[in-house]
Amino acid sequence: MGLDEFSVVLKARQFIDDAGATGVPVRLEPYLKAARASSRELTDMAADEAGTCFPMSDGSYRICVNANDSIERRRFTICHEIAHIVLRLNSDHRTHAWTSSRPLPERLCDLFAAELLLPAVLFKPAAEAARIGLASIDALAKTFEASMTATGSRYADSITTPCAFVLSHQGKVVHASRSKALRDARAIIPRHMELPCASISALSRAGTSSTTGEIDAADWFDAWERGGTLLEESRHLSQWDQTLTLLWFASEEVPSLDLTRRARRWESEGREVRDRRDDEDEFGLKELDGHLRWPGRSRRR
Ligand SMILES: [Zn+2]
Repeated sequence: MGLDEFSVVLKARQFIDDAGATGVPVRLEPYLKAARASSRELTDMAADEAGTCFPMSDGSYRICVNANDSIERRRFTICHEIAHIVLRLNSDHRTHAWTSSRPLPERLCDLFAAELLLPAVLFKPAAEAARIGLASIDALAKTFEASMTATGSRYADSITTPCAFVLSHQGKVVHASRSKALRDARAIIPRHMELPCASISALSRAGTSSTTGEIDAADWFDAWERGGTLLEESRHLSQWDQTLTLLWFASEEVPSLDLTRRARRWESEGREVRDRRDDEDEFGLKELDGHLRWPGRSRRR
């Protein structure tokens, strides 16, 4: 097949450029035209069926959408079906959306669809301007007529603040999207990982009322060596046993790996190095390793 997430994003952006993205919420007609497709809403589709697509005798395509779904879902479905046409990926709609068993071609079509619904050129400035939190993602989802999950995923992917948007199903991570700052820092949230015991997300799934709090970054990120405390906001949708999580660094900066290394080096090099440092450095080190030292030379044993 040869398609990966990166090439799908590039193809989507090229498609958007060619078709022309206009308006908020984005108009779907130019996309349909560029894909040589038309859409029809059907009232007799099964409740768990979002949409389907088939070729017509004239070489165009007909996209059928479940009329009983919400407007956000219907718009996403149309873009998802356009993805099947443009990427030439066959449908595998036997599995439910967003469950952990969703096949790769379907996830790639979801990615393509999110690009179409929330084009970077329109979405990024709006996301950057909003105050970080699930409430802002709610508002953006409403403005762009996109689902909470698609918008949240795109939000984390777009903004400068180091953050991650995680979708879990039955207590296991299904999808995590991260800002560039977290990707660069290799903050990895493995797929299929259980929600961390200490996380707000695990608590909210268990039915507690708390939805925001602080958590060690190492609880969420795999093999994380930078330390730091994350802010976590969570929403559990018990109806589908889905959990939405937004994670971000309160300092708006990823803790530096160099600082930790430097502290360790100072520790091993001992007093001679310490003597040469000024008081400010002492306090910096104290915060890092928790050991109290006297700044004054005369107090040193
Ligand atoms: Zn599909």
